[in-house]
Amino acid sequence: MTELHQQLQHIYDEVAHRNPGEAEFHQAVYEVLSSLGPVVEKHSDYVDSAVIRRLCEPERQIIFRVPWIDDNGVVQLNRGFRVEFNSALGPFKGGLRFHPSVYLGIVKFLGFEQIFKNSLTGMPIGGGKGGSDFDPKGRSDGEIMRFCQSFMTELYRHLGEYTDVPAGDTGVGMREIGYMFGQYKRITNRYESGVFTGKGMTWGGSQVRTEATGYGTVFFINEILKASDDTFEGKDVVVSGSGNVAIYAIEKIHELGGTVVACSDSSGYVVDEKGIDLALLKEVKEVRRGRMSDYAELRGGGATSVEGASVWEVPCDIAIPCATQNEINGDEAAALIRNGCKVVAEGANMPCSPNAIKQFSDAGVIFAPGKAANAGGVATSALEMQQNASRDSWTFADTELRLEQIMRRIHNRCLVTADEYGQPGNYVAGANIAGFIRVADAMLALGLV
Ligand code: GLU
Repeated sequence: MTELHQQLQHIYDEVAHRNPGEAEFHQAVYEVLSSLGPVVEKHSDYVDSAVIRRLCEPERQIIFRVPWIDDNGVVQLNRGFRVEFNSALGPFKGGLRFHPSVYLGIVKFLGFEQIFKNSLTGMPIGGGKGGSDFDPKGRSDGEIMRFCQSFMTELYRHLGEYTDVPAGDTGVGMREIGYMFGQYKRITNRYESGVFTGKGMTWGGSQVRTEATGYGTVFFINEILKASDDTFEGKDVVVSGSGNVAIYAIEKIHELGGTVVACSDSSGYVVDEKGIDLALLKEVKEVRRGRMSDYAELRGGGATSVEGASVWEVPCDIAIPCATQNEINGDEAAALIRNGCKVVAEGANMPCSPNAIKQFSDAGVIFAPGKAANAGGVATSALEMQQNASRDSWTFADTELRLEQIMRRIHNRCLVTADEYGQPGNYVAGANIAGFIRVADAMLALGLV
């Protein structure tokens, strides 16, 4: 790990001490602080006013019981979370994750990342995150609905279009948002569209929101390539994960002339040298809710399915991890470098460990961190809020164009900031510093809160 500036080390030690056992949160804080040395050298007021210490402490943390009845009439019990991390730039904004691994440390890491990501978009949104240790895998539609209703029966009191605006994340898509928005509407007797994003098109949703994170990540990589007069044309790409982010990243890569030669889910991966057949992948993942081996079988010849190994062993020019935190560690990073990978961009939140990021930087692999590269999802959520506030609805083409422009601006802001702080080409430094400065300046302006 890179060494921290002395004053930042004190802040990190305090965070680790105050939040015991929350390894992912510690990792996310360390990663941001490791970029802020040159900033505190230049502006000591960020330390004097305790703005960095305050940023590491959520404004509010809500933990609650979620009881529900399964299809066999048995009472089930889960834990719900919402960490309202920072509202200096706008209402708390960030997704809900339903996954058995969810605990306070995961929600805090995601919420902390979200502050800087949302700041980087340049839009008026603060940072927050929530979720539950509920496992939606194998649950019936009725069970999902009952869980969402119970979850919202507690959470609704903390939400509001000017207060806290959740959306989806792992395990939470349009179906779950629908059940939660329905329960919110019922309890509050208000059709308050702006309280959720990721809604369906007939009930206040935005065009491109489903595609936005995947498309946005690819637009970001396209800007990286453009910066060295290159394009996606002729590039082999590996994408991990099988949710919305991965599926729509693959769609956009193929549109821009690249070839996705392998993709994965938690059961394994497939290699398809001719390029992943997106229609088939959507059928397997979205309709049948099947596994990668089903894809290989249905593709008939040409595609090979591999179980129990890492997709990062497949040679590629560009790697886009879109599954989950720390999926690329030392060994996976070494394999990518050995096989000649030139660009790694995070479609998921923190999929690369600190060790992996260090290896990429030492080997001259361009690395785009999630808070910049995957900001297209939340940016389009902000566009959804904008449409809801004006009771308007834009076309697909118009919304996609705005997304592309936002990703270009984020990319340029990262590069300009990295230059300004003496680290040209360093997207990690650029994203952390640019994201930090906007939110820190707003915090200073708002007084001691
Ligand atoms: N969960 C997504 C993210 O990690 C989207 C959040 C949102 O749209 O509010 O950025």
